[in-house]
Amino acid sequence: QATKDTAPILPGATLGVLGGGQLGRMFVQTAQAMGYFTAVLDKDETSPAGLVSHHHIRTGYEDPQGLAELARLCDAVTTEFENVPAGALNQLATSLPVSPAGSAVAIAQDRAAEKAHFVKCGVPCAPYAVIETAAQLAAVNDALLPGILKTARMGYDGKGQIRVKTRAELVAAWDELKQVACVLEKMLPLAHECSVIVARSRSGDIVNLPVQRNLHRDGILAVTEVFAGNVPPVQAEQAIAAAKSVAIGLDYVGVLCVEFFVLENGQLVVNEIAPRPHNSGHYSQNALDVSQFELQVRCMANLPLVQPRQHSATIMLNLLGDLWFSGGVAKTPAWDEILQLPGAHLHLYGKVDAKPGRKMGHLNITAATPEKARETALKATAILG
Ligand code: ADP
Ligand code: MG
Repeated sequence: QATKDTAPILPGATLGVLGGGQLGRMFVQTAQAMGYFTAVLDKDETSPAGLVSHHHIRTGYEDPQGLAELARLCDAVTTEFENVPAGALNQLATSLPVSPAGSAVAIAQDRAAEKAHFVKCGVPCAPYAVIETAAQLAAVNDALLPGILKTARMGYDGKGQIRVKTRAELVAAWDELKQVACVLEKMLPLAHECSVIVARSRSGDIVNLPVQRNLHRDGILAVTEVFAGNVPPVQAEQAIAAAKSVAIGLDYVGVLCVEFFVLENGQLVVNEIAPRPHNSGHYSQNALDVSQFELQVRCMANLPLVQPRQHSATIMLNLLGDLWFSGGVAKTPAWDEILQLPGAHLHLYGKVDAKPGRKMGHLNITAATPEKARETALKATAILG
């Protein structure tokens, strides 16, 4: 029985997104393919999502007029950027359906709140301490060293983190981070990293993408591989169950990514969550029959959720701005050669200028077998140089 809150919002309606980055762009493109109109709120004139959306409201996230305009245009709103102020989401929620809720996003924005949520859900995370005061710093247990000091808020792609071996290094690191609220985590021996994306509807239906195995370079996701046996089945099942309980514990509506560590002893430990589609889920565009962006549309529009089915082994390669330079000189990557490779799917975000470390696009490689996907990925890497 559909209530006002769970009535489907059908194609022809307008879906809005806070944030105009690449995640917003792929959301917009997917929503449009399904017959929706779209609106993006982002103050950047050339934001990747704003450039392709029917409507682009060029204001900051907390601009009352911008938010009012978004509410006027849209039938439902989502977010693509995890640091959208929760207050903006709460404001919009007074007049239209917003997913995920400001309360869930607020937890994901704060590592201390996030870790407390993991503990509440009974999902193991790294041993940690919250450091907000000099007294808390002095009281840190030696067992947390060596560790990683992370700012509680606004960290991403390895930014806002310092690795510390001794108490003296810890004190210096907290100074370097301007003594803002932090979390100190024990450094764990990682065998590998993986993530799981779940999508949950307003009525509580939940589906998941297969477990993704992730490789980071310099704190930035570099490669995601998804195929059977890629993560041992025991940990894969644990990760899916843990991701679902984290989402259910938040009464989450929308697409949620949960990142995990698999330790050398086989133990699965949750790392962090992202309240939106995730870079490690981009392979879903070409290797699954439902992408993470379609799930985002379905969740916010109260459409049925179907369990995605993987039809190809896949490897995603992130395309960072570094590929646009060779020895400091600007170049264009050889897309023609890349597109000659079987199963190579190019996704570029339309960003105006390439900078080292900037996410410019990704390459999804699909194949009948993991071996074939690996072979193609090696060729692609050689071409990209
Ligand atoms: P970000 O928000 O920047 O993605 P993460 O907390 O995910 O920050 O940390 C970035 C990377 O640093 C992780 O993907 C992992 O490789 C490494 N890392 C983070 N925490 C730990 C830890 N407790 N032990 C070992 N490695 C870690
Ligand atoms: Mg991370």
